[in-house]
Amino acid sequence: MRVRALAVPALATALAASVSTGVAYGVRSADAPAPAFSVPSLAAQYPTPFEANGATNWTTLAEEQTFLSALDAASPRTSISQVGTTKQGRPIQLVQIQGTPKNSSMKDHATVLFTCLQHGNEPAAREGCLVKLRDLALADDPAVVKMLQDVTVLFVPTVNPDGRAANTRANSDGIDINRDHLELESIEAQTVAKLFRERKPDIVHDTHEYSSAPRTDITYMWPRNRNVHDAVHDLAYELNVDWVAPSVEAGGFTTNQYGITVKNGKQVAQSAGDGDERILRNATGLHHALGILVESYTANQNAAEQADPSLNRKRRVETQARAIDGTLAMVAKNRTRRDITAATDLSRATAATRWASNIDAFAFAGADNELPATNEIALTPPCAYTLTAAQLAEVGALLERHGVAVTPLENGGARVSMGQESAPVIPLLLDSRALYSPVNATATTTCTTS
Ligand SMILES: [Zn+2]
Repeated sequence: MRVRALAVPALATALAASVSTGVAYGVRSADAPAPAFSVPSLAAQYPTPFEANGATNWTTLAEEQTFLSALDAASPRTSISQVGTTKQGRPIQLVQIQGTPKNSSMKDHATVLFTCLQHGNEPAAREGCLVKLRDLALADDPAVVKMLQDVTVLFVPTVNPDGRAANTRANSDGIDINRDHLELESIEAQTVAKLFRERKPDIVHDTHEYSSAPRTDITYMWPRNRNVHDAVHDLAYELNVDWVAPSVEAGGFTTNQYGITVKNGKQVAQSAGDGDERILRNATGLHHALGILVESYTANQNAAEQADPSLNRKRRVETQARAIDGTLAMVAKNRTRRDITAATDLSRATAATRWASNIDAFAFAGADNELPATNEIALTPPCAYTLTAAQLAEVGALLERHGVAVTPLENGGARVSMGQESAPVIPLLLDSRALYSPVNATATTTCTTS
């Protein structure tokens, strides 16, 4: 039985040199390559509505429909489908961009999902995606064509269209979608969960905007939940620090970790960016994929932006687009793409035994930079949970949405084994020690193999 070491194991030495407050700050790998991949911009020929209006107005939802339809028609490698319908009747759309796979086995083929605009009042999080999905749909650059043989790229350009229409953070029911990836009460979070089940992405890149510390042009964060497989966690950290941050900085922009407070030039605290399993970047790791949160800074950075609001908007969109290029750079490269698919495969393959066979401890709190308290960790994790009939009625649909298999019992209840691929989310949904579990099922720590 193993309790995972604190901080990022592969970078422990580098971190040790930089950590003085107990908070693990980002340290780039010494041999980190500069990402030499960017998708050529097609803004001149096929501008997004935002580009066409000179960054005066954000693309409206109606303009987005027209724009996506035109791309669908113009790009043989692009297909657009409706994957959800909001409470107010707006479509949630999925844009798929895929070249002809290089070999039929699809070995080492990766799937990358960009989830844009979970929060309706963070418009550049959506515009950056519209720019990049256009470029990927239409670019004939050989590097892009090659990458699209090896990578299926998916965009949900507007996760929260009702929130965009009302310019609110939450959806029309007041649900913050990025705190709903465990309980899945909103149609929007259910739609993302469906994509986890059906498309099994290797990376989920989630775009946002912010206006607080550390005031860098972009902030980023990886999955910090302690139950994320080490291999996935460590590569997600590399994605953030070694690929996305340098891609943004190569354009002359600034980056830092999400939630860092800087005083007198020193990083003094991290007030946000924890292991909360309801947040998509953590849920992504628990669903075996590399997660990244990317946030662009909304307030003016200088006098020029103060004088001309279009400059502020352009900077926010450009930094989002550069962050997307950073993620694409990591999957475009054969070696790192193979590392990623090997890690996500390993996470899926070992999920059924990590806790059911008592190899790992299960953490109900803490993060990769914060040890849980002794009462927040199961050193002998449950190998199964038993639900009463009433509990099954309450959470049966939710378990299905997370891809959790259940075995019906004669009394109308069910048994949920930890010996399955969806194991990382099961205690978070069913255990009384979990912070946000909708039911408290009966945990079993002695299971016979059947
Ligand atoms: Zn946000």
